[in-house]
Amino acid sequence: MTDRIKIMRAGLEGRGLDGILVTDLKNVRYLAGFTGTSGYVLLTSLKASHAGAAGFFFTDSRYALQARGEVKGLRITIYKKAIEEIAGTVKGLGLKRVGFDGRNLSYDTFRRLKKLLPAVRLKSSPDAVEGKRAVKDADEVEYIRGAIAAAGKGFESVEKRGIGGVTEKEVSIRIEAAVKKAGADALSFETIVASGFRSAMPHAVASGKRIKKGELVIVDMGVELGGYRSDETRTYAVGSATAAQKKIYSTVKDAQMRALDAIRPGARAKDVDGAARTCIRKAGYGKYFGHGTGHGVGLDVHERPHISPQSTDVFEEGMVVTVEPGIYIPGFGGVRIEDMALVTRDGAEVLTGEAGRLAGVAAGLRIIE
Ligand code: ZN
Ligand code: ZN
Repeated sequence: MTDRIKIMRAGLEGRGLDGILVTDLKNVRYLAGFTGTSGYVLLTSLKASHAGAAGFFFTDSRYALQARGEVKGLRITIYKKAIEEIAGTVKGLGLKRVGFDGRNLSYDTFRRLKKLLPAVRLKSSPDAVEGKRAVKDADEVEYIRGAIAAAGKGFESVEKRGIGGVTEKEVSIRIEAAVKKAGADALSFETIVASGFRSAMPHAVASGKRIKKGELVIVDMGVELGGYRSDETRTYAVGSATAAQKKIYSTVKDAQMRALDAIRPGARAKDVDGAARTCIRKAGYGKYFGHGTGHGVGLDVHERPHISPQSTDVFEEGMVVTVEPGIYIPGFGGVRIEDMALVTRDGAEVLTGEAGRLAGVAAGLRIIE
C-alpha cells in the first residue's frame, strides 16, 4: 500500500501539482487500504513540505478504530467537518496547486473548497489514481481470480439445473445463492438475465419473464471478492438452436477471438475494439453492435482501460480487461460473449471459464435445457 502512495507522490510534480485530494472511495481504498464509506486522502508531492507524514487520511468518528487498523503510512485525522479540516491541512502545508478526483468531487464541495482556499489552484485530475489502478499487481490478480472462480459456480448452477420454464428473476436468485455459497462477498452488479426478445437489450436486468424453449438467453454476471470484481457473460440457447442463432453466435465468438488476439502490451485499445468491430461489420451485423468491446475491471466493474472506438488507452502488462462483443437484433434477440483477460508480457491470458476452457477454439452456441 505504501508503495502505491510513494508512486503517486512521485508523479505529482510531473502533473504540475504539489498535492492531490482523493475523494473517490475506490481510489481511497486503493491508496490507503481503507474499506469504510467515509474517507479522504491528501497526498503531497515529494518536494512539498509535509511535516514528516507521507500523506493524510481523514475520516469521521464512526471509523476511528477501523482506520487505525487499516490505514498504514498516513497521518489519520478524525474530522467533525471534513472539508474544513482538509482545507485547513492544505493551508497549513502551504500547497498551491492541488489536484482532485474530478469525476467524484461534487460541484458544491468544489465551491466550498474554493471558498476556503482562495489562493490555491484546484485542478481536476480524474485519471491520476485511475490510471495507476489499471495495472494490477499480483495480489489484485489473485482476488480477481478468486472472484471469477466463485462466479463460475453461478454459471454452473445455470448450466447444470437448466433454465427452461423458469423466470429470469428465479435464475438470478439461483446464481446469487450459488456464488455466495462459493465464497463471494457480493455481486459486482445486478445480474443480467435477458431471454428471447429481451436479449436484444444489452443491459436488461432479470425480469419476471419466463424463459421459453428456443430462446437465446444472455447471462451477464459478476462477483466481488476482497473488493475486486469479476464480469463475465455467457449466452445460451434453450432446448435447441436455429441456424440463424448459431450464425450470430459464431460471428460474436470470432469477433471476440480477434480482439483477444490483438491484445498485447503497446497495442492501442481502439485497435482491439476495431478488430472485433470489423469482424462483426464484415458479417453484416455492424449496426447491431453499439457498445464498446470491453473495459478494465478491478475495484470497479468498469474502469480503465476503455476498449472502444474513442479510447486513447494503450495496453500495458498487468491490466485486466473484459472482451465482450455482442450482436443485438430487435425482435430477434441477442448474443454477447464476455471474458476477462490479463495482459501478459506478449499477449493475453484468458481468465474466465468459457474462453479459458476452450483455449482459443471458436466454440459453438451452448444448448442447455
Ligand atoms: Zn458484463
Ligand atoms: Zn463488462
